[in-house]
Amino acid sequence: MQINPIQNKSILTRTTGYLKSVCSHSLNPYSGCGFGNSSCGQGCYVRFNTWITRGREWGSFVDVKTNDLYSKTVDKEKSWAHKQSMPFSIFMSSSTDPWQPAEKKYRITRKVLQAMRITPPDEIILQTHSSTILEDADLIDELSRSRKLRVHISIEGDRDRLPGLPPPPCSVDSRIRALEQLSSRGVFTVICLSPLHPLNDAELFFRRLKSAGASAVIIDHFIFGDGTSDGSRTQKTSLPAIMKNVMPESIHLSYRDKVIDIARNYLPTGVSAAGFAGNYS
Ligand code: SF4
Repeated sequence: MQINPIQNKSILTRTTGYLKSVCSHSLNPYSGCGFGNSSCGQGCYVRFNTWITRGREWGSFVDVKTNDLYSKTVDKEKSWAHKQSMPFSIFMSSSTDPWQPAEKKYRITRKVLQAMRITPPDEIILQTHSSTILEDADLIDELSRSRKLRVHISIEGDRDRLPGLPPPPCSVDSRIRALEQLSSRGVFTVICLSPLHPLNDAELFFRRLKSAGASAVIIDHFIFGDGTSDGSRTQKTSLPAIMKNVMPESIHLSYRDKVIDIARNYLPTGVSAAGFAGNYS
């Protein structure tokens, strides 16, 4: 793993495409991801972003944005969002994990959250695969009391491993414990099954998420969920074949719809981009 401290020019990116309906800006404290070689990294859509990878193998590098860019650019970006008549809403993160292993050393995510206490956005969405988010629970709790904030915890399914995939960044149990702890503080927590994996026992899983305090779930299949209408980006990876081996029907959109029907018996449920934008039914 190559860790490269860098001086970036900006950290707040005005959203386009898929994310435009979700937030005004994305914020990536790192470029590349230390979880790139784990299970989620195999089908990760960012591995195809050549602007980020610049020829480097996904999971082999992390660029650390060490300069304090949030404070320098927040006023300008906030006023831009308000001129567009939209809330200044930040999604952290769209192409990396804010609580990946490098965060333990560099604490870029923590510094951004601290800066948000002074100049907060209108809305904050924090998304992670890791229970390390709990190290910043106090800050998140504080921000959530004055701002619209939700935490998205990615748990693609109820199995820790699918045969053929590497281990996950963090066990399902640890992520559910993180959900429990954040929810018990009153933080709005959303579990993202994105991309949806074949579930062993969907009823039991959603019941468990509900009793752990989840506020909502998002179901997002790799078809429509990877930035292409037919899942063609993900089709280039090993994920569909691995899912098919476990449960042939799971590679079809009809499986997503079946799971949505079950999830709605337990929790407010969002679907794909609308779900990430905070729309649940
Ligand atoms: S944690 Fe997120 S950004 Fe990192 S490899 Fe997994 S899916 Fe991709």
